[in-house]
Amino acid sequence: MSRIDLHLHTTYSDGTLRPSDVLSLAKAANVTALAITDHDITTGIPEAMAAGEALGIEVIPGVEISSFDGKDELHILGYYMNWQDPLFNERLATLRTSRHRRNPLIVERLQAAGLDVTYEEVKALAGTDSVGRPHIAQLLMQKKYVTSAKEAFDRYLAEGRSAYVARELPTPAQAIGWIREAKGVAVLAHPTWVKESDEELRACVKSLKDVGLGGIEVHYSTHTKTQTSSFLNLGSELNLLITGGSDFHGLTKPDIAVGRGRGDLSVKPQLLTPLKEAAAKF
Ligand code: AMP
Ligand code: ZN
Ligand code: FE
Ligand code: FE
Repeated sequence: MSRIDLHLHTTYSDGTLRPSDVLSLAKAANVTALAITDHDITTGIPEAMAAGEALGIEVIPGVEISSFDGKDELHILGYYMNWQDPLFNERLATLRTSRHRRNPLIVERLQAAGLDVTYEEVKALAGTDSVGRPHIAQLLMQKKYVTSAKEAFDRYLAEGRSAYVARELPTPAQAIGWIREAKGVAVLAHPTWVKESDEELRACVKSLKDVGLGGIEVHYSTHTKTQTSSFLNLGSELNLLITGGSDFHGLTKPDIAVGRGRGDLSVKPQLLTPLKEAAAKF
């Protein structure tokens, strides 16, 4: 059965596979359309589009922007924006700069804990301007300080752990505004990250809709059936577009497969039509 996948990371941010390799996996998983949604960067899109053309897979330009609402970190996905727009890319560049301010501080904390790591090593391993904690996790794995990215996060990198350092983030309204300004559709990623009750999530999503949010990521690798149906209800109630994707990262999330998530993910190609129609109106 054919499917789509609107949430994928590559080596242009913190995924471990190149766009062309992600596209090959997508082909094997019967994915007919996909979006590359690297963190704070659009430079992987042309490579993905070229591979998509060769394989007969529709590639939708995408991005994922982290934001902070004062309480939770919310990730905002952007689709169909003018990804080459200079102002949009300038905005993303400022976000990457905030990564370069934060990461050396994380590395200093790891060094203080006695680990032999440098930010130069992290940057060399990342090989991209969008450097994230998963790259630091990969380095810790290479150096055998941990055996998995999960262990790196649990021991050092997750919020509240010993090497965690917060990063300056835009507000959700800013992130949504930048995507809308570039004529894209803004979608709330993995709503479970909004840790409040159902009622608070509803109020949060409603307030995001008031500032331009167009959709909600209902189908996601780690969602339970109950979560999926609850987010679907919320999306329908607030008249939001429904999207879905795996959040594939390659080896940093080894249990997540392109198009199939943990095995039972299958996002229907029909969901793409309303998303495309909404973008065409901007
Ligand atoms: P950063 O963008 O540097 O703040 O890193 C955040 C990214 O790290 C997320 O988008 C996830 O891909 C990944 N991540 C966050 N928490 C974990 C975790 N506990 N285990 C593995 N990866 C994680
Ligand atoms: Zn990531
Ligand atoms: Fe995310
Ligand atoms: Fe993601």
